[in-house]
Amino acid sequence: MAIIIDGKEIARRIRQEIAQEVKRLKVEKGITPILQVIMVGDNPASKLYVSNKKKGCKEVGIISKEQVFPENVSEEELKDFIHSVNHDKSISGILLQLPLPKHLNEEKLISLIDPKKDVDGIHPLNIGKLVSGKPYYYPCTPLGIIYLINEVVKDISGKKAVVIGRSKIVGKPVSLMLLSHNATVTICHSKTEELGKITSEADILVVAVGKPNFITADMVNKNAVVIDVGTNKLENRYVGDVDFPSVSEKVYAITPVPGGVGPMTVTFLLKNTLQSVKDGDF
Ligand code: NAP
Repeated sequence: MAIIIDGKEIARRIRQEIAQEVKRLKVEKGITPILQVIMVGDNPASKLYVSNKKKGCKEVGIISKEQVFPENVSEEELKDFIHSVNHDKSISGILLQLPLPKHLNEEKLISLIDPKKDVDGIHPLNIGKLVSGKPYYYPCTPLGIIYLINEVVKDISGKKAVVIGRSKIVGKPVSLMLLSHNATVTICHSKTEELGKITSEADILVVAVGKPNFITADMVNKNAVVIDVGTNKLENRYVGDVDFPSVSEKVYAITPVPGGVGPMTVTFLLKNTLQSVKDGDF
């Protein structure tokens, strides 16, 4: 049986450290980080994510402000609001909850956020800096993934890492981050041929596809560390992309779903928001 990488417990530990640091900043400098969440419409999944983020902020002492716009808000109105929070010195972090309704240009609106307040790490400048230089903020889910890998892998350097999925928020950034840790990285996607052959060679396998039970025991090797990013709703429960019962019998270590990557994502949003006041240059 594999080591189960307990993301919930690890996230709890990190949140305790964040809470202590938030308290210390308040006592010593009289500053409390404020996260401005911007939400459009009432998509139930987005509402749940926003509520988890607000809960996380409360837990560690970060103030969260929420601005909800109606589904039919104009781009101009959102643009004005983003400009106003960019210039509001009390706001240290800005999070635009995605996806946005189709009539809004997501890329354009993200690019209007001040990159120094982009605690989600999704501004084109921050994403671009993954390739050259150091972003103000790394994206939260990839940060959580790297942290979980480090819990069980002493040194990522030289390891064969396989990432399945090439999304902007998970697959591509985590691949670049693994590369910067000197892993030998292979990125797979829907056009990849002989996927099982590639995944079987992975020391580290990150799966971000969005298909339940996509990775089966015959696709992994016994020394692999498997990070399951997938969050798939099946009737009344969530499962990952990995067939957990069979794969966990075979590999060295694995994250569960729920309780693996999920809690780490919000935790690194909190950590980035704390970082935004520590850098203090906004
Ligand atoms: P996404 O945009 O949904 O894209 C899925 C990726 O999987 C694409 O790159 C696609 O390839 C690839 N893919 C699809 N079918 C494939 C196949 N048969 N073989 C190999 N690759 C295949 O990805 P995402 O936004 O990163 O989301 C992935 C999953 O992670 C979802 O379940 C999402 O809910 C979850 N997620 C969880 C968290 C968390 O905090 N736990 C955060 C973000 C996402 P192409 O590019 O060729 O289409």
